Amino acid sequence: MEISHIEHIGIAVESLEQAIPFYEKVLGLKCYSIEEVADQKVKTAFFMVGQTKIELLEATSPESSIAKFIEKKGPGMHHMAFAVKNIEGALKEAEEKGVKLIDAAPRGGAEGLSIAFLHPKSTNSVLTELCEDKNK
Ligand code: ZN
Repeated sequence: MEISHIEHIGIAVESLEQAIPFYEKVLGLKCYSIEEVADQKVKTAFFMVGQTKIELLEATSPESSIAKFIEKKGPGMHHMAFAVKNIEGALKEAEEKGVKLIDAAPRGGAEGLSIAFLHPKSTNSVLTELCEDKNK
């Protein structure tokens, strides 16, 4: 597959309101977008660092995978997302190479991206997301 850069790093937080001041007041970044992704039962806050984003994720329901993650491991780094050229092809290639997929086909993520997750069992326990900006 052809990866251009790390698109974003996802961080699970208990509360966006509590977490955002560290990024803004200490790191000097600016939160440029807060978006609810109903599909994934999360509210997200984005910061730009070069061409990579930091995505803070707060659960909006106890059934959210973020709520379950925090319950098990506490808040912290949740996933890493790579920008790929052809997400369908990249998923097919990963599957052919024996990677277990969480998403067999891309779905809609925050910021209008097409996203798909690879299973941590196949990625040295780092939840890995592939994403493609089809609007570009
Ligand atoms: Zn993500």
